Amino acid sequence: MNLKNQKVAVCGAGGFIGGHLVKSLLDQGVDVVRAIDIKPLDEWYQYSKDVENLSLDLKEKENCHKAAKGVTAVFQLAADMGGMGFIENNKALCMLSVLTNTHMLMAARDAGVQRFFYSSSACVYNGDKQKTPEVVPLKEEDAYPALPEDGYGWEKLFSERMCRHFEEDFGLQTRVARFHNVYGPLGTWNGGREKAPAAICRKVLEAKMSGKHEIEIWGDGKQTRSFMYVDDCTKGSRMILESDIHEPLNLGSDELVTINQLVDIVEEIAGVKLERRYNLGAPKGVNGRNSDNTKILKLMGWEPSIRLKEGMTKTYHWIENQMLVGAHK
Ligand code: NAD
Repeated sequence: MNLKNQKVAVCGAGGFIGGHLVKSLLDQGVDVVRAIDIKPLDEWYQYSKDVENLSLDLKEKENCHKAAKGVTAVFQLAADMGGMGFIENNKALCMLSVLTNTHMLMAARDAGVQRFFYSSSACVYNGDKQKTPEVVPLKEEDAYPALPEDGYGWEKLFSERMCRHFEEDFGLQTRVARFHNVYGPLGTWNGGREKAPAAICRKVLEAKMSGKHEIEIWGDGKQTRSFMYVDDCTKGSRMILESDIHEPLNLGSDELVTINQLVDIVEEIAGVKLERRYNLGAPKGVNGRNSDNTKILKLMGWEPSIRLKEGMTKTYHWIENQMLVGAHK
């Protein structure tokens, strides 16, 4: 499928990735007719006036029918989610996203939607494969035997399988991407749901602005991760939706860093050096995780194009601006 000339709905459009996705699709001339999020419009990170923007709770079935009406493709990104601090302490809330995914799949099927994109996560991967910082990058088949992140990861894995069975049994064409740590401007950077890249930018900025040159790091800082800039994510998401690949695909960066190295990068951008305090009791997730991109590169030629330093520089300056605006309110 080519999205050109198709009518598209984006669920979770008031959030970080959904907001960027609507913008990038519109920039590419795609007819995004509808954008949906549970938040009131004034809390969306970004929106376009040319789209029907709806504030709806997609856990409710009738609202999913409104969302899917008259479109040929749906991007389903709506979920209750956040960084480790949020998902470790809100497992039931994370699992309730199963209502959104179930009802959106049913509504898409009933409305005759031709393509359904589901944003899964690297949190579906078996925890036993992520025990040391020196990880072997995760291949798609490493999700089984199943031992995902408790709560959030189980819901994602279950919803992936629902996509698969809706395709097998009902003929709804579903496509699944497993996002690995996405970051960039216009996303959550405070309040408890923020993820490591934004949290570290904020903490470095707070230290710089206050003159108190220290930073708290969750865990021992030796845990490894890869981080994908949001523009690479939106580009890859469109490619996956348009593709003929029915199996879940990794969508992530394979530029592996420790959290300490991520702090080094942000310190360099900020031009400061901070004393590090390690909070070993804080939520920190698995010890190591990286994306194996062999499959997506081979099947559709996608690979991340934005290096971590470049993407973090943009993210840092956007958060700096948010903090300065907040300080002047
Ligand atoms: P986000 O929290 O910024 O966006 C999710 C949006 O969904 C929010 O605006 C939220 O209000 C909305 N939402 C939640 N419940 C809803 C409901 N019942 N009805 C309607 N809208 C609802 O998160 P994000 O980072 O943009 O993530 C988008 C998707 O990608 C999510 O499904 C998430 O699980 C997945 N994902 C993200 C990452 C990442 O690193 N950001 C990694 C893996 C997977």
